[in-house]
Amino acid sequence: MSYLMEEHVLAAALTREIFGNVSDAAKLWFWGLSALSTGVLAWGVARRVRRWRIGKSDTERFSWRAGLINLWQFVLLQRRVRGHGAAGAAHILLFGGFVVLSIGTGLIGVEHLLEKLLGHAPTDPVFHKGLYFAVYEFVMDLAGLALLAGCGFFVYRRWKRPPEVGHEWQDWLVLALFAIIGMTGYVLEGLRIVREQTPMPGVSFVGVLFARGFESLGMTPAGASDWHIATWWFHAVLALTVIALFPYTRLLHGIAGTVRLAAGIERLGRLSPVSIEQVEETGEIGVTRVEQFKRWQLIELDACVSCGRCEQQCPAFEAGKPLSPRSVVQDVRQHFEAVAMVRPAERDGSARPALVGEIILDETLWSCTTCSACVDVCPLGISPLGFITDMRRSLVADGKLRGSPAQALQKTGRTGNPWGMPAQDRMAWADGLRVSNVQDNPDCDVLYWVGCAAAYDRRLQKVARSVVKLMQAADVNFAVLGNSEGCTGEAARRMGDELLFQQLAGKNIKTFERFGVRRGVKRIVSHCPHCVNSFRQDYSQLGADLDVVHHTEFLDELMHTGRLRVPAEGSAGTGATSASITYHDPCYLARVQNVTAAPRALLSRVTGENGIVEMPRHGRQTSCCGAGGGRMWFDDTADKRVGQSRVAEALATGTRTLCVSCPFCLTMTSDGIAARNGDMTVRDIAEILADTLPPQPSGNQHA
Ligand code: SF4
Ligand code: SF4
Repeated sequence: MSYLMEEHVLAAALTREIFGNVSDAAKLWFWGLSALSTGVLAWGVARRVRRWRIGKSDTERFSWRAGLINLWQFVLLQRRVRGHGAAGAAHILLFGGFVVLSIGTGLIGVEHLLEKLLGHAPTDPVFHKGLYFAVYEFVMDLAGLALLAGCGFFVYRRWKRPPEVGHEWQDWLVLALFAIIGMTGYVLEGLRIVREQTPMPGVSFVGVLFARGFESLGMTPAGASDWHIATWWFHAVLALTVIALFPYTRLLHGIAGTVRLAAGIERLGRLSPVSIEQVEETGEIGVTRVEQFKRWQLIELDACVSCGRCEQQCPAFEAGKPLSPRSVVQDVRQHFEAVAMVRPAERDGSARPALVGEIILDETLWSCTTCSACVDVCPLGISPLGFITDMRRSLVADGKLRGSPAQALQKTGRTGNPWGMPAQDRMAWADGLRVSNVQDNPDCDVLYWVGCAAAYDRRLQKVARSVVKLMQAADVNFAVLGNSEGCTGEAARRMGDELLFQQLAGKNIKTFERFGVRRGVKRIVSHCPHCVNSFRQDYSQLGADLDVVHHTEFLDELMHTGRLRVPAEGSAGTGATSASITYHDPCYLARVQNVTAAPRALLSRVTGENGIVEMPRHGRQTSCCGAGGGRMWFDDTADKRVGQSRVAEALATGTRTLCVSCPFCLTMTSDGIAARNGDMTVRDIAEILADTLPPQPSGNQHA
């Protein structure tokens, strides 16, 4: 056609008229409908904001910096969406296409406004011309394809209805609207090209195909004009409908998720703080009513798209426990909707089912191991774990925890450790070793935090002894708290007993103050990732400023500085030659503290490079052993335990040694392997390294 042949001549005319073929009256209607659409959107958003305000205001500080990083990484770059197969790629295409098309439409608006302000004629654009225009048209066509490809995949997926994905009829509506808007955009472009005989239409590479199609059907420029205005209206009304629908459909996640991520308060392993003063004032602890959740948690309810990723990663769900983090969020969300419909004054009196016990069952709440897998995987930054632990607190306050876990808490309160052992036996693990107490060595550089498990459990005592041997070999000036050490309260807190936790933590903080244990003076080394996390995240909420490292980080540091040396690969006595070891990443170390390299660096000193046989789920994507969140103290039979699949995975590597770096992981995996009669030994990384040391005269040089 003529417009194709004249492309090279008409390069300078690269532009198009904004609102071409649209009468002044139609423009007025369009602006009126735009105002209506924006009004419906604003009303819907304001309604949601009013509902979010039902929740409690937050006492934690918001971080603008973290919020901006979250927006960049999780919204714009879709970091948590990437790497999730076809669904992740399709979401990126749909989201990317939508964002680019929205920005492109916004730029058209800016051009139109500038033309009005600067007195330009519609045929004399301000910036919408030349090379900019060519790139613009090309990018917009590309974005349309991305949007349609994303829609196509999600239509196919909804058709297949995989069980892990939530389904609502509105999802079909939204997808249909997006797809029709994308298609009519191309139809509109094709009609415009025919109507205007556009010079160089090739930059609109999809639009030109439509134009050729229309022309092959005999469409003339005059005929295209009528179809163009009809399609323009159809396209515009659908686009304005989508804008208005945002707060009323699943698209709400775009608003709520962005607000949630901008809040920048997502921290793995951190629980919401509890003020004892407030508890005394209100008599309330934990959550029994949805209004007691924080506002940002209510925003999370609106952000959840029921994608099921949290459920896929949940070890409790995998083990058949009555817990699906997705269902927890969705059930609380539905309950919240029902509550929000009731007038504030009538909420207490209304006969609605109880949130805790009826909507969310006690067994559901107790099934969680607090492994943080659900939080880490959620693309919207939602924490199902936060909802669970908040509700657990009310269960404990109401005396609804019974049996062995309740006894563990009672023993902890009575004796300072969940085993109920006497405090004076706390140094029994060090029999035969010369380990100095901080009272005798007040100038020590390092405080070795032994923890209850290694202090009282005979198997775990060997781990503490190995850590001591390694520190002595590296000539570290360390000491322990001895009988002054008490349980961190980590498990108590995650089981929901906040008062017991604060009592234990308060005591330990006083002990630290007494012996000058604080950042910049004395470092704490612990072989327990739960203790490390508690010191870093729980104790800091109580004002303690501690420098805490896990023993794998510390030993790696000692190796790097040359203070600790181990003989080369396959050392005698380790039984840990190349390819004979697999390593289990503890959730609280790998996922929560992001420590995955140090243990591997240490192990590779013994096994050689590439000597570790990795399990399919490793690093941050590790799978839970089942002990966290106080589950260690629950009386599960071996076949019902969370973490059975992890044991099977370890055995399937065919290695003879399972290396761990957490006392709870050691206990749980040892029990699991024994229950399966597996031919595998479980050892802490410190034990493996200590075995490589030449025999030394026992004693702490600084004792
Ligand atoms: S909480 Fe997050 S991961 Fe879980 S279903 Fe909702 S959006 Fe998906
Ligand atoms: S923290 Fe772990 S066990 Fe608890 S709900 Fe999340 S994924 Fe499941």
